[in-house]
Amino acid sequence: CLTLNHTLILNFVTCDVVAGPGQWEALCSYLSLPSNLLQVYSSQRVVMEPLVHRWCCHPGVRQTLLGGGVIVRFPRESNRLIELPEDYSVLINQASSFTCPRSGGDKSRAPTLCLVCGAILCSQSYCCQTEVDGEDVGACTAHTFTCGAGLGLFLRVRESQVLFVAGKSKGCFYPPPYLDDYGETDQGLKRGNPLHLCHERYRKIERLWRQHGVAEVIGHAQEANQTLVTIDWQHL
Ligand SMILES: [Zn+2]
Ligand SMILES: [Zn+2]
Repeated sequence: CLTLNHTLILNFVTCDVVAGPGQWEALCSYLSLPSNLLQVYSSQRVVMEPLVHRWCCHPGVRQTLLGGGVIVRFPRESNRLIELPEDYSVLINQASSFTCPRSGGDKSRAPTLCLVCGAILCSQSYCCQTEVDGEDVGACTAHTFTCGAGLGLFLRVRESQVLFVAGKSKGCFYPPPYLDDYGETDQGLKRGNPLHLCHERYRKIERLWRQHGVAEVIGHAQEANQTLVTIDWQHL
């Protein structure tokens, strides 16, 4: 147990997880360790000495102590949604030059951008329906199974609308991260004022995705608005 705690604490120290006043003490007390590690060493010499010795003999550590090599492999960076352009017209232009991959160069009716990988899909159209487990699904739903294990976040470019889909039957719309000069979204692009990326809103969407909150948002939206339940999400 001490070995485990020790390793844990080393990981925490080296990964810079412990930051801010009181955090170190809190962590040590959680692990039932004194906050002064030298105390552990002197009180548990019999256990600690072979442990430290073994650690120092590890070829990776040894190499680093001799200069060169990496002791700490830092944790992977958090996943991020794709970068979006500041100016919405860039997306409109991209979408209008996008053609349906299945219809020999025809324009797509509802070009839709995957916010996870950046792919543009030909949504809401028979041409790009495929079969998943014996059921016809639209390009977006099909894409979620290869890109997000059944969960997808999209931007419907012509509507300026974010689309969340979960599984084949659940989905909802979400306010887009683009605002006009008055701080308003323009869902449906009816007013046509220039739109700019609102980083704060986009980060909020990213946080939802990272913290696995998208399915919950869909659930709440469907409870609050029964018409959402009747939308044929799987064909989007
Ligand atoms: Zn994707
Ligand atoms: Zn198509």
